[in-house]
Amino acid sequence: MNNAYTESLNRLIEEFGRLPGIGSKTAERLAFYILKADAAEAKKLAEAINDVKDKIGRCEICFNLCEQQTCRICSDNSRDKGLICVVEQPRDIIKLEQTGACKWVYHVLGGHIAPLEGCEPDDLTINELLDKVRAGGVKEIIMATNPNMAGDGTAFYISSFLRSMPVKVTRLARGLPSGTTIEYASGKILADAISGRQELE
Ligand SMILES: [Zn+2]
Repeated sequence: MNNAYTESLNRLIEEFGRLPGIGSKTAERLAFYILKADAAEAKKLAEAINDVKDKIGRCEICFNLCEQQTCRICSDNSRDKGLICVVEQPRDIIKLEQTGACKWVYHVLGGHIAPLEGCEPDDLTINELLDKVRAGGVKEIIMATNPNMAGDGTAFYISSFLRSMPVKVTRLARGLPSGTTIEYASGKILADAISGRQELE
């Protein structure tokens, strides 16, 4: 709180300062930028923030982010619905889609199994995934959880249920450095990992 600033300015600085990666100096700089910007520009930013909270929900099929009942990928008829790529979070879909190598649909788990972080299997959309496979028509489940301990553990946990079902289970592996996350992998490495996916034993 800086007494030299007005109350609203201090409030804006405080709110910016809550954002990840924004220190107090940057928060101040952003607040002053907004103060100087014309009213229309500032309003556009406020509206964009509002819209993200008001309009974005979850796709009822894959749990990806969307503004309708189903996301663009699930509504796309050119996608092979028999191939389901399982990811931890919607951001991973964006990254995988950037490779241009994906003709499948997705299933977003909503995280990974991590009891120490308070995330148990029931907190994820694992049952919904198993239901999809039980309903039939699924040929392959591509596990694209992060290639780190939690992601590997989650993939193996899910595949233990799929083993008794008539579906092939593969894992993105080749070239993906162990311990990394999909979100930060390079496009070339991801594309290789997609084409070189291997069956999970
Ligand atoms: Zn969807």
